[in-house]
Amino acid sequence: MKREILLGVAAGVFFFASISGLNPLPALLFGFLLYLLYETGGLRIIRRQLGGSGQEVKNQVTFQQIGGQAAAKKELLEALEFMKDGNKAAALGIRPLKGILLAGPPGTGKTLLAKAAATYTDAVFLAAAGSEFIEMYAGVGAQRVRSLFQRAREAGRREGRSNAVIFIDEIDVLGSKRGQYQGHMEYDQTLNQLLTEMDGMKSTDGVRVLVVGATNREDMLDPALLRPGRFDRLVRVELPDQEGRLQILKLHTANKPLAPDVDLKQIARETFGFSGAHLESLANEAAILALRENAAQIGQRHFLEAIDKVSLGEKLDRRPQKEELWRVAVHEVGHAVVSEAFRPGSVASLTITSRGQALGYMRQVPEDDYYLYTESYLRGQLRILLAGMAAEEVLLGNRSTGAQGDLEQAISTVKKMVAAGMSSLGIVSVADLPAGELQGAIRDILNEEKAEARRIMTEKKELVLSLARELLEKERLAGEELRARLQDGHEPAYPAEAADQTGVLAS
Ligand code: ATP
Repeated sequence: MKREILLGVAAGVFFFASISGLNPLPALLFGFLLYLLYETGGLRIIRRQLGGSGQEVKNQVTFQQIGGQAAAKKELLEALEFMKDGNKAAALGIRPLKGILLAGPPGTGKTLLAKAAATYTDAVFLAAAGSEFIEMYAGVGAQRVRSLFQRAREAGRREGRSNAVIFIDEIDVLGSKRGQYQGHMEYDQTLNQLLTEMDGMKSTDGVRVLVVGATNREDMLDPALLRPGRFDRLVRVELPDQEGRLQILKLHTANKPLAPDVDLKQIARETFGFSGAHLESLANEAAILALRENAAQIGQRHFLEAIDKVSLGEKLDRRPQKEELWRVAVHEVGHAVVSEAFRPGSVASLTITSRGQALGYMRQVPEDDYYLYTESYLRGQLRILLAGMAAEEVLLGNRSTGAQGDLEQAISTVKKMVAAGMSSLGIVSVADLPAGELQGAIRDILNEEKAEARRIMTEKKELVLSLARELLEKERLAGEELRARLQDGHEPAYPAEAADQTGVLAS
């Protein structure tokens, strides 16, 4: 129908222009081009290019739904008080807060905090990602920024709210230091537009706009963004501590049937380094494992297996050769025995099931959340890392590439030790050390700890062999089983004949 109307209009223009003595061709050509754009959806694309970044999101997240992050929540709430009680703040001449920057590792709840901030201030919530503003065409990003602010105000007015929160994720993409991209002024224009919009925000705007930016790369941000009057507040959102992890686990298991044996405190203890997103995934994976077993409730073992899955990846169908499996068993038992010798009770489990990149692994229970490490602790960790290789050498007579990951980790630990003045070099500036000296210091520490690991392996050779046979047969040993065998002492629960039947005891 529209097409017929357009054709009618074109014919009218042609007729009118002809009788008025004008050349109708340019107008017709222009009309034809517009028609083509319309037909191919080009107009829609242009409109989207110019104004499409950022979506209004219906949102009901509250601060109660965010576990841990007490410090971040407190700081954010303090900042939001000004927005909530805008009149009181205005009476005191306090200028409205324009931007809050949330900085921290991925998955720690920055988006959730921004949403909760919007709910708390009864604001409309618009979310965009920094990358949405970056386009090849000059001026498009800047136009998108303008349109985003405009839409935030419109949405606020439409819904009768006095506040709007614009959340820009990965703001480092949009707001990285200007002038970095040579010959590509588009980034700079977009950032300038954002700064202009933020500068232009007034308390008399009708709808107050607060920009909440999130980044994992605070160091990349243009200093102009961090200037007072723009992102006035920097709120750090860190990985949760043990108490925080427990709270997050409670939140994400609240809607799930848990068996009586579930001990979320233990799970929280064993998940050092997990973010909120990891913990959410852990609760979900535990439920999936229970479902696969047709269990009506989720048990502790589902959670424990889910920890391995979230940290290392899905179990693989890949089955190594029997000889390889035996080597993996010896290697993992090596780690575990030294770990127990260094810190009794520290092994959570060990297995020879392939997951992700690992053919087998030993999982430790972190003692507590530590932020500082002593030299003896680090040396102990080195000994544990090198024990897999030492076990292969002592028990199988040679080593394999299986220790590569352990070595990488060990070297990075030793480098930290050298930087902290814990090596024979004393207090040094690592950057200024000749490469040879650094290598020497690294080698010395590694050799000392490997010698110690080898000593333990030689002393407990029978026990290690017996444990490796048991692991080979059962595929997985829990920390408690391991400790029971270690307490039995030298009584090999798994005599050599048992493993000989598997035909893999090569040594
Ligand atoms: P990114 O930097 O990758 O964008 P983010 O810090 O914005 O990540 P969110 O998107 O807020 O992280 O979190 C992802 C998911 O992880 C959430 O939907 C939620 O399920 C869970 N989560 C993260 N942190 C928490 C927390 N503190 N409490 C409860 N759940 C959390």
